[in-house]
Formats: sequence, C-alpha cells, structure tokens
Amino acid sequence: MPRSDFSFHVTARLTETTTSPAAGRAGVIDTPHGPIRTPAFIPVGTQAAVKAVLPEAVAELGGQAVLANAYHLYLQPGADIVDEAGGLGRFMNWPGPTFTDSGGFQVMSLGSGFKKVISMDLPAERQGADDAVAPGKERLADVDEDGVWFRSHLNGDRHRFTPEVSMGIQHQLGADITFAFDELTTLMNSRGYQEESLERTRRWAQRCLDEHARLTTQRSGKPYQALFGVIQGAQYEDLRRKACRDLAAMTSGMDDGEDGGGFDGYGIGGALEKENLGTIVGWCADELPEDRPRHLLGISEPDDVFTAIENGADTFDCVSPTRVARTSAVYTRDGRINLAGARYKRQFTPIDETCDCYTCAHYTVAYLRHLFKAKEMNAATLASIHNERFVVRMVDDARRALEDGTFFDLKADVLGRYYGRTAARGTTTVG
Ligand SMILES: [Zn+2]
Repeated sequence: MPRSDFSFHVTARLTETTTSPAAGRAGVIDTPHGPIRTPAFIPVGTQAAVKAVLPEAVAELGGQAVLANAYHLYLQPGADIVDEAGGLGRFMNWPGPTFTDSGGFQVMSLGSGFKKVISMDLPAERQGADDAVAPGKERLADVDEDGVWFRSHLNGDRHRFTPEVSMGIQHQLGADITFAFDELTTLMNSRGYQEESLERTRRWAQRCLDEHARLTTQRSGKPYQALFGVIQGAQYEDLRRKACRDLAAMTSGMDDGEDGGGFDGYGIGGALEKENLGTIVGWCADELPEDRPRHLLGISEPDDVFTAIENGADTFDCVSPTRVARTSAVYTRDGRINLAGARYKRQFTPIDETCDCYTCAHYTVAYLRHLFKAKEMNAATLASIHNERFVVRMVDDARRALEDGTFFDLKADVLGRYYGRTAARGTTTVG
C-alpha cells in the first residue's frame, strides 16, 4: 500500500487565551487499519496484550489503537513469528490501528535506571556522571556509535540493537505507526553528553529513515507503516528545538517529493520532569511541522494529559492505568483510591457513579475489594477496564472541549476536582 494510506489533518485548534499559547489541536490520523481521532490516549499492550484486558474490551472501552513494544516482542516470541502470523494486529486479534515503539527506551533503561529513579537514588558524588548506574542495578546496556549492546531481562543473553535492527523488527511486527531508534539519556547526564547523544540520535534517525525506505520497498505488498522520528534533548530548550528542526528537515530515498517526505510524525521522548512537561512539548510543537502528528511517550496522569494536549501533543501512551490497577489503585473523579482499604468493605456502589465502563455498570467497590483480597484474577481485569476507560474518556472529553471552545473550563473542573478533593480528603495514592 502507498504512503498516502497514512495521513493526518487538523480539525480544530485551541482558542488562544492571555495565559496560554494555542498549540493544542484536534485532528484525525488515518492509518491502513482505521482512523484515530486525536487527542487520543493509546492503551499499551507491551507484549501484544493489554494486561488482563481482552482486545474486545479494549475496543468497548473506547481504545482506538494499541501500542506494543519491539524489544519485548523481539525477545519473545520473536518478530519473525509475529510476521508469519500476519503482523501484530492479526496476531493479537486487534483489528484497529497499532503502534510499536523502537525498543530504545527499554534497552537503554536497562543501562542506567531512568528518569527520577536515578536522580533520587544516586549518591551526590555520582550525580552528573554519564556512566551512572542506579545502586543495586547492574549495567545491562552499552551505547556506541553504531548501536547498543544489551542483555535480555529474561535470561541474560547478549543482544545487539542498531537503527537497522530496530526497523527490521518493527517491519516484521507490522504496526501502522513505528518509531525511530533513539538514545535515551537521563536528567543526570551532563550537558556535554546530552549534546553528543543528540547528535548520535540524529544520525540514527537518518539511518532509520533510509532503512525504513528500503524495507517499505522490499515489502511493498504490506500495508504502509508510518515512521515517527523521536525528539530528545532532555530539559534543554536549544537542544529540543535543534532536534525538532534536524528531524523535520530529514528525507529518505523513498520520498517522492509530493508531500515533503521525511518522517510521518514525531515522538517526544526522553527525560522529562513533570514541571517542564508543558514547556518542552510547547517548544517541540513550535518547531515541528503542523501537518504531522506528535506522540508523547509515557504519560497518563490527568494534569500531565491536559498539559500535553494544551501544548500540542496529539497522542499519548502509558502503562500506568493497568499497572496501578493490578495493585488495586483506581482513578475516580475525586482522585485515585486504593480498593484494598477497609473502608470499602461494605461500599455497595460502583467505583464512580458517573463512569460508563463495564466494571462500573456491573460491579460494586465491595466486590472488587473482595476480589483483590482473595487474589482473584478478575480483580485485575475489572480494575484495568475501569482505569483505561477513565483515561480514554478524559482525553475524549478534552477533544470535544477543544472542538467546542470549552477546553480550559473542562481542564479547571477536572483537575480541580481530581487533585483538590484528593488533598482535602487526605487520600493516599499508591503505585
Ligand atoms: Zn468505571
């Protein structure tokens, strides 16, 4: 299938206010497996399964696409198996659009412990060290100019990822949207290392585009797979802006010049501190082409979601809704609660009276608490369905509000209630 089977168009823009820029937008990403209305939250199915939730339930709760991970599927069952099965969607019985991330994050976070983990745990004399490893963690990944050596988290076997290997795996997996292989840095890396790494990621991005072009031609009978370039640059404005400009200018051999060529969209990745999230997304939205979608890797907290949308991110993914659900934590309009609490023993009402999910339509908090206490597997399923629906619906509401000009009212209502009352009640969040 031709490249024209993938496209993005903007349908509405955020109205500018005195306090906010207007990068936020609503739109539609068309893929060979159907459209994604944006902004959209993309449920994560790391190993070709959204943990504890059947694909039919993912569709029922409004999930528009699923994101799986190239590193995990490469280790097991093997990308060739998924290819022979007809690609990721067919393999996992998910007929809609799919994403795969490049594996870079997983491979590289084996190396150092990542994000805040490293900054909280490292002794002062080790902070800023570019070879930093979190205490108690063996270094499992090593980056060089050509790629990364790493050890499998499953059995310790040594493996090699390069931009070409990642693209080969992602073509075998066959997702509609793939990501360029990039180097993940941490907030603890020095400025000098961030610069060096960003240049390497730029060179890798070009290699990904070229290999993607070669594989797209070689596998011309397959549905077109879009390739997103990944923007790194940590918390530095000049590096983030440079990365955006560099990647936006890149083209590959397959480009016919009709649509400007290059990446089909962009991922905003890497080390981000919560307080800088909106600013960093804003820099990227400022530099990146308007007609390409922007994916923000790894967020689902309500304040992060609204900040990201406001500043111009179109899609997001995160493992948190299912991960915290398995620890009996569920989202409500009034903040996150833990179902294991003794106070819920006799609460014969749904998690959230206003939630339209399958779990809230059929089950009480008292029953869910019982399932968690009794270690019944349905506990994880029912809590995960609710949490995924909560985030998907919140983003859907944000999209409608963006379209009808009420985005900032919705943001104030949702966040005021979610965080305000959580603090007032003294509810402890977990996970
Ligand atoms: Zn619910």
